[in-house]
Amino acid sequence: MVVRKSDPVSRTPEVAIIGGGIIGCAAAAFLAERGASVTIFEQTAVGAGASGRNLGAIQHPFDPVLAELYPSSLDHYHRLADACDAFAVADAPAGLLLLNADAGAVRRQVEHFRQAAPELEPAFLSPEDVAEVEPALSGGFAACRLATGYPVPPDAATAAYATLALRRGAALRLGVSAAPWVEGDRARGVTLGDGSRVEADAVLVAAGPWTPAVVDPSGDWQPIHRTWGVTVQLRLPRPLRHVLEEDEVDSVNRPAVATARAAASTDPEPPSLFSIASAGDISTLGSTFLPIAPDPAPIAGLLRHRAQRFLPSIGDADVVQVRVCARPQSVDGRPFIGPVAGVDALFVCAGHGPWGISTGPASAELVVGTILGEARIPAELRADRAVQTAQALADTGPAGMAS
Ligand SMILES: Cc1cc2nc3c(=O)[nH]c(=O)nc-3n(C[C@H](O)[C@H](O)[C@H](O)COP(=O)(O)OP(=O)(O)OC[C@H]3O[C@@H](n4cnc5c(N)ncnc54)[C@H](O)[C@@H]3O)c2cc1C
Repeated sequence: MVVRKSDPVSRTPEVAIIGGGIIGCAAAAFLAERGASVTIFEQTAVGAGASGRNLGAIQHPFDPVLAELYPSSLDHYHRLADACDAFAVADAPAGLLLLNADAGAVRRQVEHFRQAAPELEPAFLSPEDVAEVEPALSGGFAACRLATGYPVPPDAATAAYATLALRRGAALRLGVSAAPWVEGDRARGVTLGDGSRVEADAVLVAAGPWTPAVVDPSGDWQPIHRTWGVTVQLRLPRPLRHVLEEDEVDSVNRPAVATARAAASTDPEPPSLFSIASAGDISTLGSTFLPIAPDPAPIAGLLRHRAQRFLPSIGDADVVQVRVCARPQSVDGRPFIGPVAGVDALFVCAGHGPWGISTGPASAELVVGTILGEARIPAELRADRAVQTAQALADTGPAGMAS
């Protein structure tokens, strides 16, 4: 069965979006605002993937290319908060503390950020300073404080964009798996799981880590991989003021390294990095970077055990929820945005790794601009760019973060 469009192609475009994560929902809201007729096809539920189960920190990425997307995403979030009562974001950052017991390493890191990103107002906090600003932390940790980090409930932004998109006239079809329907060299719409087809003028694949399989079932295009992260939602005796991260820059700031390390590990207690953010009275503790979906229960125990080194009170905190989801980790750490080479009217926006909440709205705006024929994508983010292999990037890859 083919659902036919009622109007000719010349009027406002009809866009089918595959995926109801932060990218798909933000893109739907922006397209609907511009008068496009939009349908989101989501195989499970809004925010079912990483967009609903992340750490909840809107943060300045350390890769300068991704950092370009952050201020604009923050502006979008402030506008989203104005438009949706259910979403709120602070006017000023809570601050990110990168914790390290080696005060000398922290001083070097502060110096690095003073050169690389002075707008983050890097500051050295001695263990005494840290004890003053975050009394729940164990003693002995110095910190590099950066003026970034806006904690929000992990699923809040995605849910709010979905609400806004619906309010602007978009349609949302949940529990519906979709794939681009391509004839010749053009996308005609989407084929649904039951074999039926829906016509569209343009198709946007925003399916997170599932994107390569949706765009190219032949498997030739595989620049995005899954790195599975477990998070534990807790009720601490007192919520934290800052976003906290264990500083292990040499490994975690290179997603390819973190992924390779996890893939090579036969350790039943896989590597993890401490990170935590409090939104309201719920704190979300992370996380792992695993190549296959883990059993979350034992990993959650491990995360809590390791986190007690930083926050002893975690041992007694009530566990609200344990969650697992996959980051859409691209091989060079940057998303793929824009037209898919060789197929007219097919677009992609995916591969944000650990930065999708922080940079998603700006990415969605970029891809919406290309769908409407108005914007160009920066070369480093184009979907048709040549990609380096994870191996090549292991030593030189752009920075990631510990969420
Ligand atoms: C543990 C963890 C912590 C994180 N913390 C942060 C953080 O603090 N800050 C930050 O900026 N980022 C963070 N991230 C990263 C961020 O969550 C992701 O980059 C972002 O959510 C990806 O959004 P997306 O829309 O591209 O993909 P997803 O959220 O994966 O959404 C894709 C959607 O597509 C759907 N789908 C897939 N295939 C189909 C199909 N064929 N048909 C229909 N629907 C389909 C899926 O069900 C899913 O809902 C974290 C990630 C993890 C795993």
